[in-house]
Amino acid sequence: GGTQQSPLLDGLNPQQKEAVEYRGQALLIIAGAGSGKTSVLTRRVASLLETRDAWPSQILAITFTNKAAAEMRERVHAILGQGSDGMWISTFHSSCVRILRREAEKIGLSSTFSIYDSADTKVTLKRIIKGLDADTYGFTPGSAGAKISKLKNELADADSYARNANMSDPQEVMFVEIFRQYQARLRAASALDFDDLIGETVYLFRAFPKVAALYRRRFRHLLVDEYQDTNHAQYALVHELTRPVTPELAQEMEDDGVHVRNLRDASGAIPGASLTVVGDSDQSIYAFRGADTRNISGFERDYPGARVILLEQNYRSTQNILSAANAVIGHNFDRTDKKLWSAGGDGEKIVGFTAYSGHDEAQFVSDEIQVLHAAGMAYRDMAVFYRTNAQTRALEEILVRSATPYRVVGGTKFYERAEIKDALAYLIAVANPVDELALRRILNTPKRGIGPATETGLSSFADDNELTFRQAMRNSAALGLGPKVTGAILELAELLDAAALMLVPTSVTDDGVPVGGANVSEVLEFLLNGSGLLAGLRNSRDPQDEVRAENIEELVAQTKDFNKENPDGGLVDFLTQVSLVAAADDLDDASGTVSLMTLHTAKGLEYEAVFLTGVEEGLLPHQMSANEPGGPAEERRLFYVGITRARKRLYLSLAMTRAQFGDINVAMPSRYLQEIPADLIDWKQSPGMANSRGGTQPRALNARRDGGFGGFGNSLGTGSNDGYGGRSSYGTSKQPVGLPPGKPKTEWANKITGTVRDNGGLELQAGDRIRHHDFGEGRVNQVTGEGTKRIAHVQFDTAGAKKLLIKIAPIEKI
Ligand code: ATP
Ligand code: MG
Repeated sequence: GGTQQSPLLDGLNPQQKEAVEYRGQALLIIAGAGSGKTSVLTRRVASLLETRDAWPSQILAITFTNKAAAEMRERVHAILGQGSDGMWISTFHSSCVRILRREAEKIGLSSTFSIYDSADTKVTLKRIIKGLDADTYGFTPGSAGAKISKLKNELADADSYARNANMSDPQEVMFVEIFRQYQARLRAASALDFDDLIGETVYLFRAFPKVAALYRRRFRHLLVDEYQDTNHAQYALVHELTRPVTPELAQEMEDDGVHVRNLRDASGAIPGASLTVVGDSDQSIYAFRGADTRNISGFERDYPGARVILLEQNYRSTQNILSAANAVIGHNFDRTDKKLWSAGGDGEKIVGFTAYSGHDEAQFVSDEIQVLHAAGMAYRDMAVFYRTNAQTRALEEILVRSATPYRVVGGTKFYERAEIKDALAYLIAVANPVDELALRRILNTPKRGIGPATETGLSSFADDNELTFRQAMRNSAALGLGPKVTGAILELAELLDAAALMLVPTSVTDDGVPVGGANVSEVLEFLLNGSGLLAGLRNSRDPQDEVRAENIEELVAQTKDFNKENPDGGLVDFLTQVSLVAAADDLDDASGTVSLMTLHTAKGLEYEAVFLTGVEEGLLPHQMSANEPGGPAEERRLFYVGITRARKRLYLSLAMTRAQFGDINVAMPSRYLQEIPADLIDWKQSPGMANSRGGTQPRALNARRDGGFGGFGNSLGTGSNDGYGGRSSYGTSKQPVGLPPGKPKTEWANKITGTVRDNGGLELQAGDRIRHHDFGEGRVNQVTGEGTKRIAHVQFDTAGAKKLLIKIAPIEKI
């Protein structure tokens, strides 16, 4: 017989197999959503190990989130049934932190450098802008921060930017100064922001070829997932890691006693590492953060001789879902058309839902979740997506009321809470004593009678005398402040010093491993007790402080878990882990909850059922990008990403009115909806909404009167073949969705929303009585707003007080 095939290849199609087994220098796997790109990457790692083409320590696999990294590690482990110690599977950022902590001194950083998140960056920029009066030039921390980030992603710094900028423009001069000061402050604080993590690693490799050579020698196989969303800095990093080591440098290494002989080729060089990238240009959704799909399209030029493999079979979704996705993305120009197909059958139709309000939409989502759940689908297999975080409020309200277990993925993150940042700032100040930002955060937290004037006084005292902020604190007696304030400052400095001492190991083992220093939770508890931070919150009369105290206790519990899971992990390791928690990382599959998240966070994930909400103009495409060049195309990709997360059930919903910033807006269906062939979607609408036949009697109500809930077809009804044949309580209509050629948009929109109702001319005033489809009779108390946005404030006899948009609400005067 022939050679036996590795079980690793079981079930793979020929293209996938080839991608797993290919052993050449450069491999590009380019394919649409759900075609197994990530799966193939994982198996490829396992295969490299299984065939002994690589040791674990020679592999560096880059994923988009830490969660994806953990998943990949687990799967490799499951496939091989053995550990993979020494293998790096992590995000770009985590890999760079690991490298930079080791090499920090070379580029003038302390190995305990701080990592600034966007909030830290904002505070820093705010201080700089204030100091420079730069707001008079129109700069805000947000605008300056975005520009700096963009430049850093292109590997530019203040100097290189200044060389090319128009320096006769005072605004440019001001920006360069802001950029310079920002960099200087981060340097002085031994801090890096997120963009620096990548940029400084590239700089390190370029400035220290020998250091780069050591990493090139180590990582012989580089694999990158979601390559379409790499920016220039990440692209450069990949390039630095996969370049060959010149014969001269290889010789130098050998002379230095580094073992490289087995890696050198005939010319004496160490050939570049093998590189595998996978990606899908149609899923590029981070252009606003500098992602550049030219990294994919230029791959064959950058890596001559690269093998390109296309995957065309989709294993995730039903054909109906895929057809919708294909049709939508087909409207983007400048793309290679991929013929994605599924062997999984057509499946159920997509359900479209037109709600009267965001509240109704949320109610629909919640009801359908219950229907699916009752039919046997687990909560964790369902997800609700939205374009903006603001949309979660209505959803959460209803889900709470219906007792549906849910979880907002990447909402206000635990570590972004003020009290948690306070507690962490104490730890950061211990780990990195020169971090001025952390010190200033805790200077008067809890309150010690140190005012803002003293804080800025200390900062300028430090600047004037070339001291760090911490040194200025120790020498604060020289500032001539009152004895109480001086005492408070000194006491804080001493507390931090004492905590730092606790960390010092008490002995060293025979193998030279330091032992005996305090662990993270001990240091944290010491700081919390010594500063009175926790006691202050516990004794407060503000009920919010109780929650804050609980959060801090949760943080203490987390440090204890960390100690258990990382017996050798120190304070800096803990802080690094905290800094790198990304949005998608607080996902917990086992928790049995419905996941709520933005479309951006949804990338790479998959669910049995997906609810894509707010498919309206203004939200999708978002109004911010609708008029930008490339904006609508990028938003279309975002929609495509959302659609392709669904395995079996897809719901697209929109609301005709949406409360936003205290205003109620009338929404139009998203332009992308008309790109989906009409026969793929069953449209439903809120009970109480008018329908397209011009009658005022909503179809759902008719149906209900005719035959009760079961009297009309529904897409979740019996006959469903995927095992989730629940009953929906919403009426359906078979209205065509596609925009007939030549028909004006509004008419098409009316078809989708099923409304021709337009109360535009309805003259209402305080005192009028009205009747509403759902709420019954009531009295108008007040009319506010203008034109199409006139709102009636109505006190209903039984349904309570409501605000209704007069133009379209299902109301009549009585
Ligand atoms: P995305 O573009 O969304 O990141 P992807 O191309 O990375 O998608 P995967 O997530 O790897 O796709 O795979 C999608 C689904 O298909 C997963 O559930 C995976 O387990 C499954 N799958 C992949 N290949 C096969 C196969 N050969 N046989 C059966 N299932 C497969
Ligand atoms: Mg993937």
